[in-house]
Amino acid sequence: RAKADPGRHPCFYEPSMDEKVRNRRKLAADLRDAVKAGQLTVCYQVQRVVATGEIRGFEALVRWQHPTRGTIMPDDFIPLAEESDLILQIGEWVLRSVCAEAVLWQQPYKVAVNLSGIQFVHTDIARVVANVLEQTGLPPERLELELTESTIIADQPRALQVLRQIKSMGVSLALDDFGTGYSSLDTLRRFSFDRIKIDRSFFGAVQASDQTLAVVHAVLALGKAFDIPVMAEGIETADQLNMLHEVGCEEAQGFLLGRPACLDDIVKNGQITMNRVA
Ligand code: C2E
Ligand code: MG
Ligand code: MG
Ligand code: MG
Repeated sequence: RAKADPGRHPCFYEPSMDEKVRNRRKLAADLRDAVKAGQLTVCYQVQRVVATGEIRGFEALVRWQHPTRGTIMPDDFIPLAEESDLILQIGEWVLRSVCAEAVLWQQPYKVAVNLSGIQFVHTDIARVVANVLEQTGLPPERLELELTESTIIADQPRALQVLRQIKSMGVSLALDDFGTGYSSLDTLRRFSFDRIKIDRSFFGAVQASDQTLAVVHAVLALGKAFDIPVMAEGIETADQLNMLHEVGCEEAQGFLLGRPACLDDIVKNGQITMNRVA
């Protein structure tokens, strides 16, 4: 690496690194205009009740339709947005768009929106949520916010206070990507989440299935202890779904049950019917 101690190693010029930095700067600059230019879109992935297959809700997942690079996935631009206050603008845009869309659905499904940690620290997110709900008219009971432990770790006392405010409005909270971070029992106890989502990495191809089973059992026991349902993420095979069925995991999300899709396609496949705009 070019960063190596110059006193002991020759300093190599790495054009690829230079290019990466330039690329990143360009992307960050593009992202600055993306919201205004209407390049962000939201797709929805269905969440189902394991026992019955019925729809429990949808998770909103943001996409960036870049004019020259095509569709960019959130893992490739959300971290970039989090390096600046851009994430605040993007986060609020997603929340507002999703609530405005969901209020038009005839089926009163819950809709889940992912939050970034910056939204807790750098903005009054409780007020933003309250405003958006009021302006869009979405009943608070239909909104769920997904957070990871890393989201709330930066300022726990503040996160606790803000999340209590949000919960008191009737909005529910899901603990996302459980098992990858701290997975602390203390978080579960103090933050009164409404559901736990087991991270999709536990259901990846490399994961031995007996290990997966042990993890699911452990998280289900936690769910029981805290009296909240557990949702498995990243379910891709019928075997995995059968396993969830057998162990009594309440809810599931994954390509097997439905891929993320734009609202138009979800309307076309009949899962959602739109109310006529008054
Ligand atoms: P997440 O919240 O854990 O979302 C689930 C991710 O798993 C989605 O990736 C989804 O497409 C993917 N997924 C679902 N089922 C399967 C499956 O069966 N197999 C596999 N391999 N993957 C599956 P996506 O859409 O690329 O989003 C990635 C992450 O980006 C999300 O992880 C979330 O943390 C973040 N994200 C997405 N939208 C937003 C947003 O509006 N705001 C913020 N702050 N973060 C967002
Ligand atoms: Mg999520
Ligand atoms: Mg997740
Ligand atoms: Mg995630």
